[in-house]
Amino acid sequence: MCDCLFCKMVKGEIPVNKLYEDEDFIVIKDINPEPKVHYLMIPKEHYANLTELNDERAVKIGKGLKILSTTIALEKLNLKEGFRVVANTGDWGGQSVHHLHFHLLGGEKLTDKMG
Ligand code: 5GP
Ligand code: ZN
Repeated sequence: MCDCLFCKMVKGEIPVNKLYEDEDFIVIKDINPEPKVHYLMIPKEHYANLTELNDERAVKIGKGLKILSTTIALEKLNLKEGFRVVANTGDWGGQSVHHLHFHLLGGEKLTDKMG
């Protein structure tokens, strides 16, 4: 049995409150929201992070980012002032759950600008 936290959520082995679901993704609220609006877009397929993208996965992720930015951020959450999408990648990137996911952050002005 897969020991991955997000795979268990995808399979319904751990109950989660889904804001959105389609054949490729779920979107859930982060358990430790920081800032106040904080969701995770999780692909249903397990792979560790962005370094494991292939062409097929990249197409799905592109569609997922479109849904995250329009349907979720603008229409469902009304983040019209702006938001941030982050994929922490690997240990030095601060990734703690090694199943690819995108953080959607907003609901207040984000000050800790990086890059
Ligand atoms: P990472 O550090 O890998 O970029 O992000 C993992 C995220 O998963 C963290 O923001 C953490 O708060 C969130 N998280 C960890 N465990 C759970 C959980 O059981 N439920 C939910 N909804 N989020 C979780
Ligand atoms: Zn997984």
